[in-house]
Amino acid sequence: MPIIHASELNQKKIQELIHTTIKSGGLCVFPTETVYGIGADATQDEAVKKIFIAKGRPSDNPLIVHLSSKKDLTQCVREIPEIAYPLMDEFWPGPLTLVFKKSPSISPLVTGGLDTVGIRIPSSILAQQVIQAAGVPLCAPSANISGKPSATLFSHVLDDFKDRVDLLIDGGKVTIGLESTVLDLTTPIPTLLRPGAITQKMIEDVLKVSILDATKDYIEGIPKSPGMKYKHYAPSGELSLVKGDFNQVIQYLTDAIVKNENIGIIAPKEYIDKLKGKHLLSMGSILDPNEIGSNLFSALRTMDQQHIQTIYIPVLDDQDLGQAIMNRLLKAASYRIIDLSEAR
Ligand code: AMP
Ligand code: MG
Repeated sequence: MPIIHASELNQKKIQELIHTTIKSGGLCVFPTETVYGIGADATQDEAVKKIFIAKGRPSDNPLIVHLSSKKDLTQCVREIPEIAYPLMDEFWPGPLTLVFKKSPSISPLVTGGLDTVGIRIPSSILAQQVIQAAGVPLCAPSANISGKPSATLFSHVLDDFKDRVDLLIDGGKVTIGLESTVLDLTTPIPTLLRPGAITQKMIEDVLKVSILDATKDYIEGIPKSPGMKYKHYAPSGELSLVKGDFNQVIQYLTDAIVKNENIGIIAPKEYIDKLKGKHLLSMGSILDPNEIGSNLFSALRTMDQQHIQTIYIPVLDDQDLGQAIMNRLLKAASYRIIDLSEAR
């Protein structure tokens, strides 16, 4: 199982290795600007099946098809609605997946049986080199065992897939650290299916119309029963989100540490600075949502490595990039929220 470092990628021999691996139906893990992806030839059913097996992913969860150029789009989709053009012009290459009606050349295995396909052109030069070298559309879900936090560091990839894929490309830490925004363009009004670094506002500013938000499948403040159906990005320990104003949350977490010193707390630096405990992990400043987004999954994985059974994270602002951050946190916590504002 060869491991290639990013710095070697422009070498012809390496590009040939990627081409050979993908063309022979193998799996290649590579970094994108969002998270690490596990790629296979989207045109080979046997290769696509290997992805679902390697990840333990339910077969009805569709894979995103990654291209290196817009010119390859027509081979994957049946039609390109007018509304897609300004979005592609503005956000491709980049962390936006657009859902189109699929062309017959895309196997239903890729799309989980759906008649639609999600397509993205990553902005990461490394990812583009990999897709170009492969010479075919690559279906590439996040490179994590299904249900676990996505991989944002190469060490995460090794934890999940060492010896289980054919080729691994080490690009260090990814820049964004949250999966792409997914926008469905097959509905009468474009529908946000997953928030990401391309925010709802950025999309609406380009389209000059409101889009539908189908991502809030929870009622804010009211904990939903932790349906396994929603389990996603989850650490092994039990994660709860703590909702309240800054001082209330600090007080709650301080008391929680007194009761049990083995709990883990992941929070913006401003919170961590006010706490004393054994397992405190800063995600960066609350003033820098990009930093928080990029460290989120890594922090969840660190808690697992330290075998922390009980984890708390404060509820954060859900505007702009915060929409994606809170979406991941709520799923990771199976919607468990301790609402301190209700206790007042
Ligand atoms: P991942 O590949 O792990 O980043 O997950 C891909 C996400 O995109 C999943 O949440 C899928 O449900 C979503 N997705 C991919 N293709 C489609 C599609 N054709 N229609 C709706 N959602 C999709
Ligand atoms: Mg995923």
